[in-house]
Amino acid sequence: MKANITLLPGDGVGPEITAATRQVLDQVATKFGHEFIYHEALIGGAAIDQTGTSLPPETLKAAEQSDAILLAAVGGPQWDDPTADVRPEQGLLAIRKHFGLFANLRPVKAYPALSAFAPLRAELLEGVDILFVRELTGGIYFGQRQEAGEGDTAHDTMIYSRDEVQRVAHVAFRAAQKRRKSLTSVDKANVLASMRLWRRAVAEVHEDYADVSLQHALVDSCAMHLLTRPASFDVVLAGNMFGDILSDEASVLAGSLGMLPSASLGADRFGLYEPVHGSAPDIAGQGKANPTGMILSAAMMLRYSLELEAEAQAVEAAIEGALADGARTADIAVSDSISTGEFTGAILSHLR
Ligand code: NAD
Repeated sequence: MKANITLLPGDGVGPEITAATRQVLDQVATKFGHEFIYHEALIGGAAIDQTGTSLPPETLKAAEQSDAILLAAVGGPQWDDPTADVRPEQGLLAIRKHFGLFANLRPVKAYPALSAFAPLRAELLEGVDILFVRELTGGIYFGQRQEAGEGDTAHDTMIYSRDEVQRVAHVAFRAAQKRRKSLTSVDKANVLASMRLWRRAVAEVHEDYADVSLQHALVDSCAMHLLTRPASFDVVLAGNMFGDILSDEASVLAGSLGMLPSASLGADRFGLYEPVHGSAPDIAGQGKANPTGMILSAAMMLRYSLELEAEAQAVEAAIEGALADGARTADIAVSDSISTGEFTGAILSHLR
């Protein structure tokens, strides 16, 4: 197949991990007979320096004409003035909003080779492979709010419509169908009216997916079970705030921030794919960055936007192969570590 991919290297380690990811995608193209056409564009601090804005119109235009966006990370100390009018992360928020991406997917996998870096006992981590699906454009982060100002009260509103819940529930059920066919929907239906609607709306969508088992879980007990029996979860669906908190809680199970990918999807196959970590300015330009989070994000792009499941699995297997061989960047090394380029080479040799 032929696919157009907008590449946004951004700042810090962004260009290094983007180069690594591109090498992996090129290898996938060669191996499986595809043509990937890259459109590299500016975002974040690099865009501010060159154009005065964090999301230049040319970047949006390139993205609009693409099948998917692959983004590294933005930000760095040189743009960190909180009073500045133009800031790198504005570009990130603006591009997510522009494309109406309402479903955020964050897989968390515990690799046996990295169990020394995770805070749980190795036996609890065995088989951990969770996909969080978080509603991204509604809920309490976007509801009407009243600041306290000089007064003593303030409020935020958790508001959800049936449609908002059901469109993200469809994404979660479809993802579950491609995985172990189990979905846990998180709510607080015992207390919150919006969460009683959530539970009912998800149960209605379940009628379309008889092959997937559905469990409803209260957010507080779910938070506990993610640490006491993490391997029992397959897909976890949650609203904006609960999904934010639970996916961060579970991210530590992977051992390093450098290992985690994400995808943001909307109504069609178009998506924005990016690692969970930031621009890691402390190690930028030193060849130390772990490219795994971005390479796994590219695998998600193959799976969800390009519908190339075998290719996505080949990339994931190549990463597992490299880790099993002992390949380690500094963030996941107990003793000897290798560079970003050498680590990418180890992945490429497995992919071949
Ligand atoms: P960070 O994720 O950049 O780094 C946190 C720590 O993890 C650092 O020690 C870093 O070296 C390490 N780390 C992160 N990614 C790594 C990788 N791929 N390989 C090896 N080590 C890695 O978070 P931070 O330090 O809080 O923020 C740095 C900058 O990134 C800030 O300007 C922040 O605003 C920005 N940021 C951007 C995003 C994004 O683009 N999505 C997300 C978070 C932070």
